[in-house]
Amino acid sequence: MKADAECKEISDTAFYCIYVDAMLGWLARMLRILFGAEVFYSSSIGDSQLLKTNCLVVTRDEELFRQRRGPTILLKTDDHVKWIAVFLRLGMRPFEKTRCPECGGELIKISCGEAEAAVGHAIQSAECWRCVNCGKYYWVGSHWRRLRQLVREAEEVRAECLGTG
Ligand SMILES: [Zn+2]
Repeated sequence: MKADAECKEISDTAFYCIYVDAMLGWLARMLRILFGAEVFYSSSIGDSQLLKTNCLVVTRDEELFRQRRGPTILLKTDDHVKWIAVFLRLGMRPFEKTRCPECGGELIKISCGEAEAAVGHAIQSAECWRCVNCGKYYWVGSHWRRLRQLVREAEEVRAECLGTG
């Protein structure tokens, strides 16, 4: 069976900061909101920077993966659910911490009345947050339920990262 991903030099501290390669914007948002990870993602991050960093690098580029020294994950499958499954398998725990998916800023709990006033409509949620960096508002809505569903699916699939013990 073809592996879903290849891993190298992954340790417990590998997830402290994560560089996500170009074209993986969806994954960057998921790593922030599901795991609260500090994620660097921008189309202007070049290969030379990705080769240098001590942070974990997630890429789909085999050449970059071979050249890298340091913690790296090469995603080989196109299946987004399996991408999340790889991170769960590596020990990341969902819904313990969270960050703004768009900018990576910290989310602070606010009253939903404040959020309602800001977005201009009623919010059916017991909990609301605001990003301290970009000011975006979040609450437990249909998007959140889709995230829970995604994690449930990811917990059920087998995902293998070649190179991990
Ligand atoms: Zn933000």
